[in-house]
Amino acid sequence: MTADRNVTEPIAAASASTIVADIAIVGGGLAGSLAAAVLARAGNRVALIDKRAVYPDEFRVEKIGGHQLELFRRLGFIQGLASAGCSYGRVLNIREGKVVDVSIGQAYGLPYADLVAMARGQLPDPASLIVDEVTAVACSDDLQHLELASGRYVTARLVVLATGMAGVLGYKLGIKRRVLAERHSVSFGFTIAHRDGAPFDFEALTCYGQRTADGVDYLSLFPVRAGMRANLFMFRDPTDPIMRELRRDTEATVLRLLPGLQPYLGDFRVTDQVRNWVMDLSVVEGHLQPGVVLIGDAFQTNCPAAGTGVARLLVDVERLCNEHAPRWLMTEGMSRQKISEFYSDPDKIAADQQSLKMARFRQALTSRNDIGWDVRRRLHFLRRSITHRVDQMRPGWLAQVRSALRA
Ligand SMILES: Cc1cc2nc3c(=O)[nH]c(=O)nc-3n(C[C@H](O)[C@H](O)[C@H](O)COP(=O)(O)OP(=O)(O)OC[C@H]3O[C@@H](n4cnc5c(N)ncnc54)[C@H](O)[C@@H]3O)c2cc1C
Repeated sequence: MTADRNVTEPIAAASASTIVADIAIVGGGLAGSLAAAVLARAGNRVALIDKRAVYPDEFRVEKIGGHQLELFRRLGFIQGLASAGCSYGRVLNIREGKVVDVSIGQAYGLPYADLVAMARGQLPDPASLIVDEVTAVACSDDLQHLELASGRYVTARLVVLATGMAGVLGYKLGIKRRVLAERHSVSFGFTIAHRDGAPFDFEALTCYGQRTADGVDYLSLFPVRAGMRANLFMFRDPTDPIMRELRRDTEATVLRLLPGLQPYLGDFRVTDQVRNWVMDLSVVEGHLQPGVVLIGDAFQTNCPAAGTGVARLLVDVERLCNEHAPRWLMTEGMSRQKISEFYSDPDKIAADQQSLKMARFRQALTSRNDIGWDVRRRLHFLRRSITHRVDQMRPGWLAQVRSALRA
């Protein structure tokens, strides 16, 4: 079985109860759905198996921008993203009520469910999505076997586990999660609007925390189709009473934590349910096994405040689907040796390490109150604010100086 076809073939039913594919992807969140679309477009027989026909309205990443866009473009999803998301290009960054700087660059705001729907919508054959739960997995050097809750079976040459933070299937294979930082961060998501219905004076806004004791990294406000979305990222004990206050009396608590926001928000209200999420930083162990590979959150979780989860999973998808899996499928077998090539891919390792580094940096920048971090924090915002002022006075001058220094 090789992947040198240039048209997508439908997955085959070997019998009424067994589906045969080149690659079985378990989990149709963002990682699994993107991987399925890339591999199927390249002509592989892909079975994407997810418990749910439509990804539910759950709180995950809600904005895509910066370096992530280049990766979406490279994988061929940029048009899909542009039509599903709400475009914005200018973010006003403030702290203690004052402008730090302004970030310019294309970005899109959208609910995670819409992002996953966009990725699933790029499958050349919608029948590749099998709505079912994988209950058991058996992997070997040759063929891999999955059991589904409906009683059906899937046989494939390669299994991709993209099951997010759900670790049950991994455990069945002896893959464990090592927690690197328990309850590392807390995130809140909600939508806001002016009470009188008037639009906000900014396209998007980031407000950084003021006091280390509050543990507020930043509140990010950006447009989605339903209005102005708010993502609040904190490094604080999730059992602290402030969490309850943020859920019950969101408007007043946000302004108490970030008083400098008041002039920018005016008289506002929360228009939907406040969701929150406590994140453990974790990475898997015992994952190097024949026939199976883990991508996205199934391999390593990320700090939402660092905003590296999507970049990491895009690197996983790009390296696996464009480089490693096509080569593996060209020869017999799916040995441990083949699988190890993905886990030792320099781009993957760099993205995983960068994600952990940024998670620790954001936590320290937000909440460490020793003298070293206090100075670093001041310098961090001072440098940004001076750069912004110079840019305002002499547009483009700093960029010229930087490129002259690099030459
Ligand atoms: C609150 C929050 C905010 C975030 N904000 C950001 C951000 O601003 N920037 C950023 O870059 N990242 C952010 N992230 C991280 C980002 O959202 C995740 O990295 C990304 O969603 C992971 O996608 P995934 O496909 O790996 O997992 P998921 O989206 O969780 O998908 C896993 C899928 O597997 C399926 N599944 C599991 N087990 C089975 C089974 N046995 N059988 C069948 N199906 C199964 C589930 O149904 C699900 O559809 C945030 C995360 C959270 C929690």
